[in-house]
Amino acid sequence: MNAPSAIVHWNGIDDAQRERLLMRPAQEISAEVQAGVGSILEQVRERGDAALRELTLRFDGVEQNRFAVTSEEFAAAEAAVPLELRVAMIAAAQRIEAFHEDGMQRPYAVETAPGVVCERIVRGIGRVGLYVPAGSAPLPSTALMLGVPARLAGCAEVVLCTPPRKDGSADPAVLAAAKLCGIDRVYKLGGAQAIAAMAFGTESVPRCDKLFGPGNAYVTEAKRQASTRADGAAIDMPAGPSEVLVIADAGANPAFVAADLLSQAEHGPDSQVLLISDDAALLAATEREISLQLAQLSRREIAERALASSRLVQVDALADAFEISNRYAPEHLILALREPRAWLDRVQAAGSVFLGDWTPEALGDYCSGTNHVLPTGGAARALGGLSVASFQTAISVQSAQPRGIVAIGPCAMVMAEAEGLGAHRNAVALRLAEARP
Ligand code: NAD
Repeated sequence: MNAPSAIVHWNGIDDAQRERLLMRPAQEISAEVQAGVGSILEQVRERGDAALRELTLRFDGVEQNRFAVTSEEFAAAEAAVPLELRVAMIAAAQRIEAFHEDGMQRPYAVETAPGVVCERIVRGIGRVGLYVPAGSAPLPSTALMLGVPARLAGCAEVVLCTPPRKDGSADPAVLAAAKLCGIDRVYKLGGAQAIAAMAFGTESVPRCDKLFGPGNAYVTEAKRQASTRADGAAIDMPAGPSEVLVIADAGANPAFVAADLLSQAEHGPDSQVLLISDDAALLAATEREISLQLAQLSRREIAERALASSRLVQVDALADAFEISNRYAPEHLILALREPRAWLDRVQAAGSVFLGDWTPEALGDYCSGTNHVLPTGGAARALGGLSVASFQTAISVQSAQPRGIVAIGPCAMVMAEAEGLGAHRNAVALRLAEARP
């Protein structure tokens, strides 16, 4: 690799060294970022739009009087998007919809005792706030990944924020993608101030119940802080700097593997890429390929910086690679193996898995149909990626007939008695006395 990332033998290092090897570059949000984000949140909460104007000037270099995208701006943006891109976005949205539809939470009902029915009913969350990054690159694909499930869930109001460009406009492709998902409340706001605006509400941005979407360290930290405040908002998950882990065997194609590692590295300097293999020749060949392909990249400088914290790990057996991967819990996991599906059972923690030589991560990033908003920073140990269910709430409902309270009332009374809750016992006993023939 271009950067100083020598091949490390997993079995040649101790556990402390292994721990360090699997550290993310952006693992710890610095105290400075935490404090800076805290101050941004406070300013927006206290001074609303006035603070948004100051912060947008400071961090995006743009003077703005209004943040909402107008219908004229939407029309101009749609006209500016090339037909080829429009067609691709429509096709991607259709596949995302097809896959996500099956993952919706559905209502159900169970008779748990004679005369007692328990149900789950499902609602779309009332008002959701979506964040579409555009700092180093505008991501219209993210607008689709957030907007399609929000629409399927039936959320009553969908608000979207995306950073303004230097001329004060929003990226046309992001606007066109938002429109495709039926979203017309878009605000030209970026970073922590956009998250604060959607969490607390301002004169122009409505307060949202739950915030979604990926972003840089400021965005991710702002979501975290907003979610811990009583006056803030719920969040989807920590979806910060991107990462990929590739497990490759001797039969893998080094050019394919290198391209996959680089496609992750070009996301941002704090992205992380890891390659694990049981084959020294594959590791060395991939390292050479990376240097060759890197030279051709338009985002070479960014990729180079990310590669500085990349990892090339040699293991004695592929089974060890899966142990390392589960310990790291990558956002993306590519299995460049001869029998990838046979190894799938070993995967315990990962955001999204890509099977075999013909499934680059780029397909999942754009148009296979799966969601690309995925847990980072090891959060995949306990969280899955975004789905329609993330935009829904499930409400439980129960109804008991008189014969129902006869059937299960005594059970409740015994438990209430044991817990010393006399009013609970009484609420059942009174009804039981009337319900019994
Ligand atoms: P971004 O939109 O997240 O951030 C840009 C904003 O950051 C700017 O508008 C500005 O207001 C703010 N900002 C910049 N410097 C600041 C500072 N010093 N202090 C306070 N605020 C500041 O765009 P980005 O920077 O390109 O980051 C996008 C990120 O999203 C990348 O890290 C990428 O890896 C990640 N991503 C993750 C996923 C996922 O699912 N996990 C998917 C796509 C992208």
